[in-house]
Amino acid sequence: MRKERILPWLVELSRVNAASLAEGRPGDLPNLIYELRQWLDLEPDEPLNAEVRALEKKPARLQALVDRVAELLGAVADRKRFHADYSSGSVILDAGKLGSEGGRALSYRDANLEDAVVRVALDDLYEDVDAALRIQRCAEPDCSRVFLAERKNQKYCSHRCANKTASRAYRRTHGRERAERERARYERRVRERTASNVKVARRPRARGGALTGD
Ligand SMILES: [Zn+2]
Repeated sequence: MRKERILPWLVELSRVNAASLAEGRPGDLPNLIYELRQWLDLEPDEPLNAEVRALEKKPARLQALVDRVAELLGAVADRKRFHADYSSGSVILDAGKLGSEGGRALSYRDANLEDAVVRVALDDLYEDVDAALRIQRCAEPDCSRVFLAERKNQKYCSHRCANKTASRAYRRTHGRERAERERARYERRVRERTASNVKVARRPRARGGALTGD
């Protein structure tokens, strides 16, 4: 997987709902698993390949991985600590791959897939600190999801959330003024309507209504 694609992909991964992906369009789950294998850059002979393939029939296992990534990215977004315990495994440096585009020089032969996912994700965050610091949590309280900001000071995940916050703030500060303006407009409209009824109808009853209405 190309370097600039990695963190956006991790953020996408952290939002995956494995159960609905499994029930959704037929290609979606296999595609995600294919990308997962590309991202991990597993060697063909690695035992973890079998565990990755098995995810297709085990959405709950996939969800556990996704939740772990979401926990890690949430900690990055909130600038908090993230803790991971390693079970057994080994790390191999393949110096022939150092600096090569797309291939990982470090490969983790972890005992389980979850450890591998966490280690590789930590690696990626550490390797591209500038991009990692663009991982933010949306400031709109109803959303508060983790996103990859395009600009450093971007507070909202989308225009929708920015607009939502702006209009809430506007309502809060302008609420009373607007209520008064609307009441005045309503009263003016009632007066005008009553007055025009008087002109058109020219009936004693209507005039009487207008008089009492005033
Ligand atoms: Zn948002």
